[in-house]
Amino acid sequence: MLSFEDARQLVIRKVAEHLGPPATSSRPLSEALGFILAQEVVTDRDYPPFDRSTRDGYAVRSSEASPGAYLRCVAEIKAGDTVTSPLVSGTCIQIMTGAALPPEADAVVMVEFTQRNGETVGFDRATEPGQNIVPRGSEARAGQLALKQGSRLGFAELAIAAQIGAAHLLCAKKPHVAILSTGDELVPITETPGPFHIRNSNSVSLASQVRLAGAEPVPLGHALDRIDDLAAKIELGLQEDVLVLSGGVSMGKYDLVESVLHSLGAQLFFDAVAIRPGKPTVFGRCRDAWVFGLPGNPVSSMVTFQLFVIPALDLLSGAPARPLPFLEATLKEHVKEKASLAHFLPAHLEWHGLSPRVSALRWQGSGDISALSGANCFLLVPPDRLDISAGEKVSVLPRLDVL
Ligand code: AMP
Ligand code: MG
Repeated sequence: MLSFEDARQLVIRKVAEHLGPPATSSRPLSEALGFILAQEVVTDRDYPPFDRSTRDGYAVRSSEASPGAYLRCVAEIKAGDTVTSPLVSGTCIQIMTGAALPPEADAVVMVEFTQRNGETVGFDRATEPGQNIVPRGSEARAGQLALKQGSRLGFAELAIAAQIGAAHLLCAKKPHVAILSTGDELVPITETPGPFHIRNSNSVSLASQVRLAGAEPVPLGHALDRIDDLAAKIELGLQEDVLVLSGGVSMGKYDLVESVLHSLGAQLFFDAVAIRPGKPTVFGRCRDAWVFGLPGNPVSSMVTFQLFVIPALDLLSGAPARPLPFLEATLKEHVKEKASLAHFLPAHLEWHGLSPRVSALRWQGSGDISALSGANCFLLVPPDRLDISAGEKVSVLPRLDVL
């Protein structure tokens, strides 16, 4: 059986093999957060565009502002002022943070290290050339690459685009992900379940995970555990870029998803991974869509989505596949698992200063959604280290939606 790392690499390899250029559209910055950049963006001019003071103080010729020296203050420059006249020898100019340095000045002395008496400014310390100045073009040169194609547009990337006046950006279209739950026991969340039915919560969690991953969910409700209903709804889902199914992939008599996918011509690349929860996860391609069959137990579907679906969505969005963002934490209480699988346990991560500590939460297994209240990560118990003592270092997969 594949390890979760190998299964993930297989997803990445298969999707990358079929990848064409993504469809694109131009978006204003206010609607570009979370999209993937489909163009290169270059810097429009030098940054900073002038020699910029980083302190409130006095612009000087550094050789003249020595300990015990006095200079006459002849002007003031604040941020935004037009600066043309050079600094005359024997004088200084009061300057504010963010303002442009006058020609012939080569340093700024912080106001804290001066004494002012009328127009005269006295200096306490030696002044180094270049001190408290960011030279023109030292942050970025005009024409230099500012944002790479394939960048994920977060707040900093949008600020870079804003700085250089790129008010619209060409972005890749988000992949569309059909979400189909399966199971005779399910009712829509707007209906009251009978005593032996349950609400279809996976459609909600999976749609949320799709959105958080930067893709567009297409909810298809649920299918009954019947070949005709499953086949009809799967065919609908195959019209999207990706179809994510939940349930119906285990060994039970009514777990029909794999056989229906086969009957529709799917090629399956794996149908089991050495993890718990999530062992019977299915990945394949059918017609022009990628298909993931995730186990129906809610925690299984959440974990397997994070491990296997997100890298596919990254690639289909025009970005590289993000690594799994494992953190190292100190285990608070002993954990012990029996099965030789990689276990992902709902857990709580807390910080004392800079070092995180983690404890597994009490749960009744992968059907226990209630255990997730308070779970801000999944604790990895690797198959070769099933018995871990308190105080040992462990890896945890943070829930990036809540942390
Ligand atoms: P399955 O993988 O189809 O055997 O489903 C396993 C269990 O997961 C079922 O018995 C349900 O309790 C639960 N389950 C399946 N689908 C859903 C769903 N869409 N929402 C909530 N729970 C589900
Ligand atoms: Mg089922």
